[in-house]
Amino acid sequence: MILIVGAGITGLTCAACLTGEVVVVEAQEAVGGYCRTTKRNGFVWDRAGHFFHFQNPDIKKFFQKEIPEDRFVKVKKKSAIHMEDIGSIDFPFQKNIHQLPKDLYVNCLLDLYKAEKNNSEYSSFKEFAYATAGKSIAELFLIPYNEKLYACDLDELDKDAMGRFFPKASFEDVLLNADQKDNDSYNADFSYPREGAEEFVNVLHNYANKSADIRLNTTIESIDIEKKEARLSDGTCVKYTALINTSPFNKFCELASIDSTKAKLSANKVAVFNLGFDKKSQHDMHWVYFPGDEIFYRVGSYHNIHSTDRASLYVEIGLKSGDIIDEKSMLANVLKDLERTKLINTDMNLIDYEFIVMDPAYVHINSQGEQFKEEQKKSLEKHNVYTAGRYGNWTYCSIEDNMVEARDLSKAIALKLQNCANDENHFVNIFE
Ligand SMILES: Cc1cc2nc3c(=O)[nH]c(=O)nc-3n(C[C@H](O)[C@H](O)[C@H](O)COP(=O)(O)OP(=O)(O)OC[C@H]3O[C@@H](n4cnc5c(N)ncnc54)[C@H](O)[C@@H]3O)c2cc1C
Repeated sequence: MILIVGAGITGLTCAACLTGEVVVVEAQEAVGGYCRTTKRNGFVWDRAGHFFHFQNPDIKKFFQKEIPEDRFVKVKKKSAIHMEDIGSIDFPFQKNIHQLPKDLYVNCLLDLYKAEKNNSEYSSFKEFAYATAGKSIAELFLIPYNEKLYACDLDELDKDAMGRFFPKASFEDVLLNADQKDNDSYNADFSYPREGAEEFVNVLHNYANKSADIRLNTTIESIDIEKKEARLSDGTCVKYTALINTSPFNKFCELASIDSTKAKLSANKVAVFNLGFDKKSQHDMHWVYFPGDEIFYRVGSYHNIHSTDRASLYVEIGLKSGDIIDEKSMLANVLKDLERTKLINTDMNLIDYEFIVMDPAYVHINSQGEQFKEEQKKSLEKHNVYTAGRYGNWTYCSIEDNMVEARDLSKAIALKLQNCANDENHFVNIFE
């Protein structure tokens, strides 16, 4: 039996790509993990905005076949950075410094030019920001924004902590962009399901349901790697031939009695307020970044994506994992800062809201943690235990990455089990 821990995008994709005896154990009352959607009072809310810009042709084709086109809205991204006392700057900041007041623009250009000429070495994310973007861009946006998001000193993060999600811009790009606007980034165009991110979950769930036994409201409480046994919260003990973990890697280490204290696996948590109002304001952005002293680092507007007549916002707040949250006072501060930054007007009434804490949300990638993870993965694989997904892999990635990884992992596991047991192959490529 193949045991899968967690029925988020990764666990469901693995379950959909594997036949034979497959059991999925999910702690929550529904599948979907961070891609669940809440529908209430006419509002459609995800766990923070989830935007989809599938690039893998197989995955793109698969969902085009599974979900009718009219269930999506296609959007040309409108995002901005709110700079207190300066105004609104297009995102990404590095490419739009020509929109800053002249003295700041000149400083940014000079520092970027010097940074490119110096070509200095860097080892942390903070050093990377200074070395590649120059002092002014780093200090005006990159450092304050990312410190709000990650809720840590950026010196604690690896230089590649954001990987391909970091929008790079050379001196030449910046100069050319002042003349001819080209704000293309990895998510310049996106499509959004009218019924929320759960549309994708539903498709994968249908496939997974065909052969897997999905047990909701059930938690894995401990794993005996040597005996290939897992104890579940319903009191049962299950034997597996292979195990795929998608729960957060630090928690998984505890379940499997692996000491991870030296690896310092840390992450932020993100508090999300989904807010529904009785009317909307003039503000027309899809989402806005806030590097200043506002309580939130990003606010998105579902109503500007779905063209509805009542404001429906998501508000993201980066916190340290140990921070204590007072929901009521946090909401009051959110509303105050939304008014101050003109995302809402004083005549708008809040008619419904949802509060969610995503913990972990953005993992703090550092070389110590990466090395520990790779060593553990190698040693776990010898026992047919695999760890995958955004949190199982303790990484920064998108749901498309999750699906690609889950498909490839399922294929490798099925082949390994087939070779060991002289069995039939239990892999099916749903994305073909
Ligand atoms: C703020 C934010 C915004 C994001 N925006 C985007 C975006 O715009 N586009 C995009 O593509 N991606 C986005 N992502 C990333 C995306 O949410 C993830 O890549 C994806 O949801 C991860 O899926 P997963 O299955 O790997 O993990 P999860 O969704 O975390 O699923 C893991 C599952 O395991 C279950 N579980 C945990 N422990 C146990 C246990 N002991 N026993 C049983 N079950 C357990 C959990 O309940 C959960 O359902 C965003 C992430 C965040 C935090």
